[in-house]
Amino acid sequence: MLNQIKGLHHVTSLASGAAANNDFFTNTLGLRRVKKTVNFDAPDVYHLYYGDEIGTPGSVMTYFPFPDAARGTRGAGEVGTTAFAVPKGSLGAWQDRFAALGVSGLKSGQRFGDDVLTFDGPDGDSFALVEANDDRTPWSGGGIHEDHAIRGFHSASMRLKDEGATGELLTFMGYEKVGQDGDVTRYARADGNGADVIDIETVPGAPRASQGAGSVHHLAFAVDNRARQLEVREALSDTGYQVTPVIDRDYFWAIYFRTPGGVLFEIATNEPGFDRDEDTAHLGEALKLPAQHRHLRERLERTLEPIGD
Ligand code: ZN
Repeated sequence: MLNQIKGLHHVTSLASGAAANNDFFTNTLGLRRVKKTVNFDAPDVYHLYYGDEIGTPGSVMTYFPFPDAARGTRGAGEVGTTAFAVPKGSLGAWQDRFAALGVSGLKSGQRFGDDVLTFDGPDGDSFALVEANDDRTPWSGGGIHEDHAIRGFHSASMRLKDEGATGELLTFMGYEKVGQDGDVTRYARADGNGADVIDIETVPGAPRASQGAGSVHHLAFAVDNRARQLEVREALSDTGYQVTPVIDRDYFWAIYFRTPGGVLFEIATNEPGFDRDEDTAHLGEALKLPAQHRHLRERLERTLEPIGD
């Protein structure tokens, strides 16, 4: 069993409009945009990162907004709901805020004994806020009172035809099965970064999901550094997983592999972080391009959809 993985690093999803996406995550949810760059594999679209003040791993929601992308269809083999942790007693204020801002899909309930408010993102993405005791420091510049602001990810819930092989993988990755609530099995780790819960919802009869705007593209898990990442890569390869070579994503190093249930996993390093090419005070303001795409700047500044500050 591996002990290098420290919880979620980031969650990456697909969107349609970039401006609407930016508005939702910075204004409605009060996260900080910590990086405005492009998809390194498809530089004609943005890669937008939102999180706490410095984009601490475990707080970072990222998007590839493809203009005019069709919505994905929900089903098995994908991440169903991505959940953020908020302080105890704050959901009423969030409910009022979301209602006033016209956020759709609002539904209150309970999961594993915690109060939960589910809501839709701008492309029908499935999100939830979960009340939790969470001592992570929230971003204070997002216009949301510190007593309410998002602390980072609480969990991600995968929707799979069966739990077995992916549950075994999570156990191999250092997670423990900690509970069952209806069709949902909960896995967690004790020594992580706060974003330590992965749920598996079993949906045996569901059709296979197809990806589009509003779908999660991959889940990334955090390791401290490149040495720990290589250990994880070797262990996964030895177990039979087809793992990509290490890829330089400028703000972290990444490896990817497809899980048995169909969801794409990434292992990302906590180093070097989002402040490697910008001052903390100005994170996410300027369009940052990786070396291989710098020659495209003039065209990209002309063609990428303008988004707010
Ligand atoms: Zn990623």
